[in-house]
Amino acid sequence: MIGFNLNKTKRYFTELLVEQFLQREAEQLMRILLEDLFGIDQKRQLMEPKLRIDELQYAQLENAVKQLLEGVPVQYVTGKAYFDGLLFQVNESLLIPRPETEELVQKVSAGIPSDRPLRIWDIGTGSGCIAIALAKRFPLAKVIALDVSEAALETARQNALLNEVQVEFVCDDVLNPQSEIWNQPVDFVVSNPPYIRESEKATMERNVLEHEPHTALFVPDEDPLLFYRQILTLAKPQLSSDGFVWFEINEAMGEEVAQLGREMDLEVVVYNDFLGKPRFASLRGA
Ligand code: GLN
Repeated sequence: MIGFNLNKTKRYFTELLVEQFLQREAEQLMRILLEDLFGIDQKRQLMEPKLRIDELQYAQLENAVKQLLEGVPVQYVTGKAYFDGLLFQVNESLLIPRPETEELVQKVSAGIPSDRPLRIWDIGTGSGCIAIALAKRFPLAKVIALDVSEAALETARQNALLNEVQVEFVCDDVLNPQSEIWNQPVDFVVSNPPYIRESEKATMERNVLEHEPHTALFVPDEDPLLFYRQILTLAKPQLSSDGFVWFEINEAMGEEVAQLGREMDLEVVVYNDFLGKPRFASLRGA
């Protein structure tokens, strides 16, 4: 018979993965590979035990499992990640969307009126996940997404097409702003900027440290709030009177972010994430 029995193949590769992952994780990874590489969803994996894959697919799986064993995050292996119910292409030029950031989108969304053409900035958009999820939720909004990385923006543009939304993408460095955008009015500013201090590297997972882009993750120990300060400096004069700035923050920096906001005459509220850690801040004109 042509090809390989799916169930047997799955069992074989799960056993290889168990050398480095828990049984449960190994099974989950195999499920994701079959689904995201070949479109064979979990239901078919279970209901069609005689399903076969061809040699090319087998070789692809072999290669994917090798990468997983080397510590590459599964989303980079498949090139796919899910965020706010949407599918995104991802690669090592951008951060894999996180569940905390989905929570940020939910929180921001709760305060956005859907009947007006509001202007939204997403600063440091990466994959475009925040901007695209907001554009999907608020079809009347004008969403502008900025990033310093042209490579990330290239993927973010494709993600907007994939999800059939209009987002304006702008390449600019918030620390050295050149774009015209910064002179325009804005109603909502959202950002998940780099916020992990260099000294926190020691506590991080190898797969994050070795594969995710450091420019999207790290800030210097001596100035961990630089992105927040700079974003607030740019956004505050442009912000409408009922506008808001929303940040994802380092769980250890809630008080410092609140202090920064108050120094800039803003009203600040810090919120916990689903793990009970201070993770978000909303700021508005006092
Ligand atoms: N939450 C991410 C992590 O823990 C970091 C995101 C960021 O630096 N903006 O890896």
